[in-house]
Amino acid sequence: MTLLSVEGLRTQFPTQRGVVEAVNDVDLTIESGEIVGLVGESGSGKTVFAESVVGIVEEPGEIVGGDVRLHGESLLDKFEAELREIRGGTISMVFQDPMNSLNPTLTVGEQIAEAVRLHQDVGESVRLPAEVKRKILGVAKNGEAWRRAIEMLEAVEIPEPESRAEDFPHEFSGGMRQRAMIAMALANNPSLLIADEPTTALDVTIQAQILDELRDLKDAFDASILIITHDLGVVAEVCDRVSVMYAGEIVERAPAAELFGNPRHPYTQGLIASTPRIDDPRDRLEPIGGTVPELVDIPYACHFAPRCPEARPECYEIHPEFRPVGRVLAPADGGSDRGRDSRPDHEAACLRRGPEEDRL
Ligand code: SF4
Repeated sequence: MTLLSVEGLRTQFPTQRGVVEAVNDVDLTIESGEIVGLVGESGSGKTVFAESVVGIVEEPGEIVGGDVRLHGESLLDKFEAELREIRGGTISMVFQDPMNSLNPTLTVGEQIAEAVRLHQDVGESVRLPAEVKRKILGVAKNGEAWRRAIEMLEAVEIPEPESRAEDFPHEFSGGMRQRAMIAMALANNPSLLIADEPTTALDVTIQAQILDELRDLKDAFDASILIITHDLGVVAEVCDRVSVMYAGEIVERAPAAELFGNPRHPYTQGLIASTPRIDDPRDRLEPIGGTVPELVDIPYACHFAPRCPEARPECYEIHPEFRPVGRVLAPADGGSDRGRDSRPDHEAACLRRGPEEDRL
């Protein structure tokens, strides 16, 4: 069953130099129980996409087209109060830097309990300034929300959750803070968890543990997850399907194993070639030359053209549309003819891929 359906989403920021098209005609779906990855370099529009989905685009940014549907209902038609109810309830977010997301003046347990109180009817919601809350929240520690906070810290494998719930964020390690954020995000049993660079600030071992936990928690809490990251390793580790974003547009999407086994868009191929892999120790990684263009009035039809090793003059004139891209099969007879096994769940937006790929 489709949980989230984003169609033709366009988010723009007017600036003095022109209109920044941060998200440009993006489609993305997430089925119930799926982990979907949205991957791309910094500046590709991934975070603005997530902000658009949950209705927190910063002004003067504005959604100018498309639709975002959750359980079939458009979120773009909702009032801010309704969206606030959905955020932290049906949809939760985890950000890269938990230190900036956690309140340094409240204990971790109080913050998780407060998230529960705001979205569940546990009869003890306290909407007061942090310092006042800190003084009075002690009385609520036998309440349902506090018990839920302990339960959630236990679920994300914080040792001695009852005593650690009394700690302030600065008393947690980076990995524990990120776990606490995940605990807070899952405390209200969301249908969808959006995790924006959830492991970027962590060392590799902790990163792997947190990704493992996310996968387990997804099953335990019956949630779907959208992971936004620049790190293909993260995506390969946990995602069922992946969309690759470049300069505000999705350029390739496929099931994760298919994408990594058979990347077809030159940008995805470049990303994979520039990512270190334990099972393929290469002497040298090959970075993609150049940088993501500023998203103001991009003058070339395929946004990747100036960085693409396969670019042709047509690529600067014709905007590539999505089409199924064939799995390139090795010739059975060892000859030079290659077969193509088109699969509809693997699509790329490149003039040199798909049924007419030898046209240019
Ligand atoms: S359309 Fe052309 S420039 Fe764009 S990715 Fe394909 S080959 Fe490269």
